[in-house]
Amino acid sequence: MKLMERIRRQLGVKLFFSYVIIIIAGVVSLVLAAQLSAPAALARHTERMEEMLHMVGNSQELVDSLNESFVVAVRQILLVAAGAALLTALIVSTFVTRRLVGPIQRMKTASQRIAAGEYEQRVEVPGEDELSALAQAFNQMAGQLAETEQRRRQLVGDVAHELRTPLANIKGVMEGLVDEVLPPEPVTFQQVEREVTRLQRLVQDLEQLSRAEAGQMLLERERIDPARFIEDAVTRLHPQYQEKGVQLEVRLPPQLPVVSADKWRMTQVMMNLLGNALQYTPSGGRVEVTAQSTEEGLVVRVSDSGIGIAPEHLPHIFERFYRVDKSRSRAGGGSGIGLTIARHLIEAHGGSLWAESAGPEKGSAFTFVMPLLP
Ligand code: ADP
Repeated sequence: MKLMERIRRQLGVKLFFSYVIIIIAGVVSLVLAAQLSAPAALARHTERMEEMLHMVGNSQELVDSLNESFVVAVRQILLVAAGAALLTALIVSTFVTRRLVGPIQRMKTASQRIAAGEYEQRVEVPGEDELSALAQAFNQMAGQLAETEQRRRQLVGDVAHELRTPLANIKGVMEGLVDEVLPPEPVTFQQVEREVTRLQRLVQDLEQLSRAEAGQMLLERERIDPARFIEDAVTRLHPQYQEKGVQLEVRLPPQLPVVSADKWRMTQVMMNLLGNALQYTPSGGRVEVTAQSTEEGLVVRVSDSGIGIAPEHLPHIFERFYRVDKSRSRAGGGSGIGLTIARHLIEAHGGSLWAESAGPEKGSAFTFVMPLLP
């Protein structure tokens, strides 16, 4: 029972017994073969010998003893051979087991450690066989898990950080009201409302971001004239541009090629770019929207004469929660994920979005390109 259990549970024991079975089969077939063919061969041989022995004088005893010692010799040879084969099986199975089971054991330990949160665990399996390929795949998986975990931690940290300020502000106002330091007037309540609106926007953005990062942004694509989503966003933001005194110029060719796009999502992207351009351009500045059809596809560009972006910040502005000037962005209600979502949306449409700026105070330009319908 115990042996059966060990065979069931241990690869090494299984391997050893599989060799033993082969040896037994070999020995049995050898014995059978010997029993089947040896007597005939021996009979033929002794016949010849008897003839020869007749000449020297008959000796049945000699023949019998020869017969017997032949059989004993065969048995002994088989015994020694079986013993040697068993020993070899033991050595070979131990060696093979070590080569096979060692890496498997190591992967098992590593996966248990990973499950316990030690994401930097890796396994080393030299060679080029299937086991080392498995180990490589394992390491790759561990790497991806570590990355996901790192992103998760970062996200939780970022979200907590984002929540802290509006919550602290609300608490401050509430305490002021309770202590009667702040007057219970509309201005005070509006302050709270602003913070709550900011929290709501953050939650909405986060929802979108998580969907986008999981690749679950469902697009309702249709054949659409790009002018429709460009003009839609422009119309929505026009009043705010007028209010701030920033000139908004839209220059579209009379005819743009049709694209396959989700109209509302593309309006969202345009609103994000136009909203940023407005926010980071002082009064009296200018924002220009252009679109054209090129070999690479439809190219839409939103450029502004605003505060610009320093080269060291430029590569990071599409990262979530990245803001060049936190207080300035926050004052405008920015959560620092607008561009991250916009880029995801454009990429979901098969396009790409990037930013350019000659530096601080030199304005910025955001350009996206998306494929045209064949
Ligand atoms: P936010 O909600 O803070 O605007 P975004 O993801 O839309 O977040 O933008 C990220 C950061 O990129 C902004 O905080 C700002 O520093 C910078 N940025 C975006 N658009 C512009 C622009 N047109 N001019 C200057 N800086 C910009």
